[in-house]
Amino acid sequence: MHDACPACGYRILHPVYRSEPQPLAALNLPRSREAAREALRYPMDFQACGFCGHVFNRQFDYYQVPYEDDSNLMYNRGRGWQGHLDQLIDVLVEGYDVAGKTLVDIGCGDGLFLKRLLDRDLGCRCIGFEPGVEAHNARRNGLTVHKDYFHAQRDLQRIRPDVVVCRHVIEHLSRPRELVESIAYWGNRYELFPLFVAEVPRIEKAIQQGRVSDFLYEHVSNFTDFSLKNMFETAGYEVLEQEPCYDGEVIVLIGRPKRLPRIETTWRASEGFRRRVDAQHARVTEQLAALRQAGRSVAFWGGTGKGAAFLNAFGVDAETFPVVVDSDEQKVGRFVPGTGQEIRPPDWLRQNPVDVIVITTRWRARDIFDEIQRRGIACREVLVLASNELQPYEGDESGWLNPKNTRIDGQHPGGLNRGPAKSLRRLA
Ligand SMILES: [Zn+2]
Repeated sequence: MHDACPACGYRILHPVYRSEPQPLAALNLPRSREAAREALRYPMDFQACGFCGHVFNRQFDYYQVPYEDDSNLMYNRGRGWQGHLDQLIDVLVEGYDVAGKTLVDIGCGDGLFLKRLLDRDLGCRCIGFEPGVEAHNARRNGLTVHKDYFHAQRDLQRIRPDVVVCRHVIEHLSRPRELVESIAYWGNRYELFPLFVAEVPRIEKAIQQGRVSDFLYEHVSNFTDFSLKNMFETAGYEVLEQEPCYDGEVIVLIGRPKRLPRIETTWRASEGFRRRVDAQHARVTEQLAALRQAGRSVAFWGGTGKGAAFLNAFGVDAETFPVVVDSDEQKVGRFVPGTGQEIRPPDWLRQNPVDVIVITTRWRARDIFDEIQRRGIACREVLVLASNELQPYEGDESGWLNPKNTRIDGQHPGGLNRGPAKSLRRLA
């Protein structure tokens, strides 16, 4: 069940075509009249995306379609179609200089498309991925064939293709973005930016002409010019060209994953955080144990929200560390979820002074430190989590979200970053 557009993720949809359940139309062709009449039927509920116009079967379930077991070859031996294939090969040879290059065809079927390229003897290396029964035909047609699905993480690195071809496959996928995104993502991780040649049926004319025959259960997706281009662009590609071809019935898109430095920085930041959390946990629990062994009394300032997350993350239980205060009077008398301390008002610490105050909410540290001084609460030390351990708080933070150090991608030239007289920058 798709609640959102599989091409762009938008959730506002318009009903387009709903019919009685239909059997698979191209796969698993019945071998008898009885079998044909008793064929399993599947729900047909085609919706158009309110944003990109993509038309898709909301009720589609990929696992109902037995691609591995039966032939899924589209049959078109017409002269016009053959001419379309030859023209596309011409574009790749003359416009994109594929001679001598490595090409991968995802869902290559019988391999006849890249065979046309191999027949030109340009020294190309052609590799097909085909989970279906046509794989052996593709081998016969000169391709190196993996009888499998294409996994970008594994296969981009081991094959290092210059060109990825994917024709009449994307419209069958339950999650078409996933394939497109994965090639852009892993391409960036491996520093590989292969040309991507995509071809799909084009639904525009079917909609204009009221053609119900274009809606097949096997085609979960029916692309419009915009929905295809938008999907690639928002998945990280530069679309070099895109044209309606074969009398406007199919769309061919040629693009390339963009170099996206934030993929690397996001990955490194996530990995770095994951690793430091272990070291931090060990260090902070050791520091807390040392405070306790030294006989120091400790209060934790902040017991809900991020404060509660801190106390739970470091296992600060009510038996070992019973004192928690919070600036918010409405929380006084309640208990810290998970660890069980009663939340006391800040002034409780004036009558019951402690040696050490640990500020649990780093983002409010400056305000809490100010409040401790304003209320005249005495203690030997104020600690806050910094650089993987509890450190004395000095009260002079340079915020890590200082606008001078950050740049938000994609800012509109005439918008937020132009620097109006009164702007968010002045709050920093
Ligand atoms: Zn959409």
